[in-house]
Amino acid sequence: MYDVVVVGGGPSGATAAEDLARSGHKVAMIDREGRIKPCGGAIPPRLIQDFQIPDEQLIAKVTTARMISPTGRHVDIPIDNGFVGMVDRKDFDPFLRDRAEHAGAERYTGTYLRIERDGKEKHVIYRDKQSGEERSLQTRLIIGADGAKSRVAAQEIPGGTKTPLVFAYHEIIAAPREATDVYDPMRCDVIYDGAISPDFYGWVFPHGNTASVGMGTYITSVDLKQATAALREASGLADCETIRREGAPIPLKPLKFWDNARDVVVAGDAAGVVAPSSGEGIFYAMLGGRVAATAASATLASGRITDLSLARKLFMKEHKSVFKVLGAMQNAYYRSDSRRERFVSLCHDEDVQKLTFEAYMNKRLVKARPMAHLKIGLKNLSHLAGLVRETHV
Ligand SMILES: Cc1cc2nc3c(=O)[nH]c(=O)nc-3n(C[C@H](O)[C@H](O)[C@H](O)COP(=O)(O)OP(=O)(O)OC[C@H]3O[C@@H](n4cnc5c(N)ncnc54)[C@H](O)[C@@H]3O)c2cc1C
Repeated sequence: MYDVVVVGGGPSGATAAEDLARSGHKVAMIDREGRIKPCGGAIPPRLIQDFQIPDEQLIAKVTTARMISPTGRHVDIPIDNGFVGMVDRKDFDPFLRDRAEHAGAERYTGTYLRIERDGKEKHVIYRDKQSGEERSLQTRLIIGADGAKSRVAAQEIPGGTKTPLVFAYHEIIAAPREATDVYDPMRCDVIYDGAISPDFYGWVFPHGNTASVGMGTYITSVDLKQATAALREASGLADCETIRREGAPIPLKPLKFWDNARDVVVAGDAAGVVAPSSGEGIFYAMLGGRVAATAASATLASGRITDLSLARKLFMKEHKSVFKVLGAMQNAYYRSDSRRERFVSLCHDEDVQKLTFEAYMNKRLVKARPMAHLKIGLKNLSHLAGLVRETHV
């Protein structure tokens, strides 16, 4: 009999399982394994600190972000006093799963199928990867951290399938050995160009010996491979060896409910928790795993099923405002090339750079500089109203 069965051993599930095991609970973690999660792998310093990521997991440390506009103008934003870490999900996810196991979580390899309930008893049913047989784990609570298009959320959470999805695709390529005039192994490029993505963005993220080049869009008729080929061409990376081609959906809106008011709570992509505008999900997935573990612990201790709702409350208390601001930015600026052009212009402003990067790096909106906020608010308005003529570099 487990206290908690965690479904999924990605950043969210592995964090939940580790936290629960460390706090003395009997916990199982089921993951189907065998597929590398398609991901740009960019993580902020706050994640590295809060979740104690060792330096050897960082395959690159990025010190500049380049924003590129539809007309090819760019703004280089230096990342002062730190760096953005890059992880390779091929190694990062197994590292997190191993860490959860060392903390005491019991691991199972297979595919989650359903939850069966009989009176007060409940069992998680999964298909064992090796034998192909259905197996059952008896538990008191379940955490669904099985990623985008979560089966747990679909089966158990009201409105669990109602998340808008960006379809993201990238190619892992062998990176140029040294910096070229268009590629820099210490720089992340973010490309705002309707020809690459009509409603999201494209990226070139360095991963040491390799790089992730990709794009995302909500529009299902867009040819993701063709757009990525165009991006590689524009970035001088067309001739690099392609190591992997892969894609996955990104859910861009938190579900209204994260628990079923009974025995299940979802976390990470399964709860739809990826930041709008940026598509950043690893930090939020790990934090989601942490608050789901906290809510499960509280429920087990108090016997009050309403404590499961603590997961969403704790998360939203800290991050609701950032999600709102990022959502508004995406709505305002990702609609047309002229708006994208203005967005990149806005990035010239040092206060915009400082505030957005502080929000990304440390995961909080800085309240200490009211005049800067006011200035950015006004600039934002005037840019959107088209009152500001683009400055050209
Ligand atoms: C192309 C792309 C690029 C991205 N780039 C970035 C980036 O640079 N930085 C960033 O922060 N975020 C990025 N993201 C988002 C980020 O990858 C996700 O938000 C994050 O992985 C979510 O973690 P998770 O643990 O919730 O889900 P996942 O990482 O998807 O993990 C889910 C786990 O559940 C397992 N699983 C699923 N179904 C079952 C089942 N039925 N039975 C058993 N196991 C199951 C899977 O094997 C997997 O291990 C990107 C996403 C994509 C698609």
